[in-house]
Amino acid sequence: MDAAVKRIAPQAQCYQRRRPEKTLWYRTVQTHFETWLALSAGQGDESPHAHIEQAFRRYLDCGILANGFARAHCDECVHDFLIAFSCKGRGVCPSCNTRRMAETAAHLTDHVFPRLPVRQWVLSVPKRLRYFLQRDTALQGAVLRILLRGVELCLREHSPGCDPTARIGAIAFIHRFGSSLNAHVHFHCCIVDGVFQPAAKIGETAGAADAVVEVNFHAATGLDAAAIAQVQAQLRQRILRAFARRGLIGKGDRDEMMGWEHGGGFSLDASVCIEGRDRAGLERLLRYCARPPFALEHLHQMDADHLIYHNPKPRSDSPRDLVLTPLELIDKIAALIPPPRAHRHRYYGVLAPNSPMRAAVTALASLPVIVPQPVAAANSEDPPPRRAASHYLWAMLLARIYETLPLICPMCQAQMRIIAFITDASTVRKILDHIGESVQPPRIAPARGPPLWELEQAHRHQAGNDPQWDSAAQPEPEFEFDQRVAW
Ligand SMILES: [Zn+2]
Ligand SMILES: [Zn+2]
Repeated sequence: MDAAVKRIAPQAQCYQRRRPEKTLWYRTVQTHFETWLALSAGQGDESPHAHIEQAFRRYLDCGILANGFARAHCDECVHDFLIAFSCKGRGVCPSCNTRRMAETAAHLTDHVFPRLPVRQWVLSVPKRLRYFLQRDTALQGAVLRILLRGVELCLREHSPGCDPTARIGAIAFIHRFGSSLNAHVHFHCCIVDGVFQPAAKIGETAGAADAVVEVNFHAATGLDAAAIAQVQAQLRQRILRAFARRGLIGKGDRDEMMGWEHGGGFSLDASVCIEGRDRAGLERLLRYCARPPFALEHLHQMDADHLIYHNPKPRSDSPRDLVLTPLELIDKIAALIPPPRAHRHRYYGVLAPNSPMRAAVTALASLPVIVPQPVAAANSEDPPPRRAASHYLWAMLLARIYETLPLICPMCQAQMRIIAFITDASTVRKILDHIGESVQPPRIAPARGPPLWELEQAHRHQAGNDPQWDSAAQPEPEFEFDQRVAW
């Protein structure tokens, strides 16, 4: 498992076309999404939001050559291949989810976290409070601030020699899901294990906004179980108070919940701490924190009507295997799609964008990898960068293929170039026809109304045969999915 999450250097990757339409999840959505949508739309207030429908529709188009593609070419051996556009969606598409996770973790490791110990703080709250958190992003933000503030006070206390104004550096991830596709809001924060404070300002002049700040780091010591338990007790009190203040729970409930035994449903874990030099370990932790709500490799077909989602981390109160109908599975995934514009992760303390110490702290992330280009002199002979509209269109299309660049030729390992983007429908058809690929996108099964659906189910149970429309959902050997990262 650990070997699978090791960073694969982009230079070492050969392009391998993924075929999402062959996966069990794609076929499930393809066959049942329209029915799910029709059924959900009939449920009044609970009908799905536009962003959920859009996420599914874009997923159905993701990685499908018939929707257009880029053409990559190897100058060395003249090998060519086509790269379909990606949806870059959040929540539904396993391929784009995985890529985003890998990108996020790599970016935070290489450019954000200084080479200092980083501790993971995980907070979960009682079910009764989770119910409110599930639907209220402002409330999630409020609880997260209470958590980060509590950890900051604790780290100041345990970092000898620091000022009372010293700040922590944290990246926070709000998870809306548990390990069995269940809604379960909880918080993962990766926090540098100590505090920062400004040492001196270089080149400071009155009112200079861009003064360079130097930072001192005070490492935390003695963060034992008792210290963590104390933070947990404080968080419990502050969070319950915040819920009572907002009128979500009564004062009586608050007092009662304060009296509950065994932490009263609150749990704060801070047992994972990564050494400053263990960058691979840090990246693995960040991947874990940035992981999507579900992983394709845990989904299996049980029979024509049921799928199994294998819970990778079963607990006493959650089953090892989840047996679901296709509609139930779509329902569960839909519930986990993040609301539009919700932040995937947040920067806090010295890592916050507006922190005067941010530049100095993130400079400790790594040796510089990108050498900034010197500002072109006025008499430079280099042509100015192209500003034509086509230049931006090219960049936009490049972003849509969502591939790690440079592309490496699978035949001769040379670096390949993108030589064209084909979006015109008739050209797309001509090329796909020529190379023997399907010119039609996969057919999306039409909605089947509730009575029809039930009749169909009853009919199937009686006759024990499968109607033809469902043939696409039959088990077939799983295609080797281009999911380069697993966890
Ligand atoms: Zn996608
Ligand atoms: Zn080649």
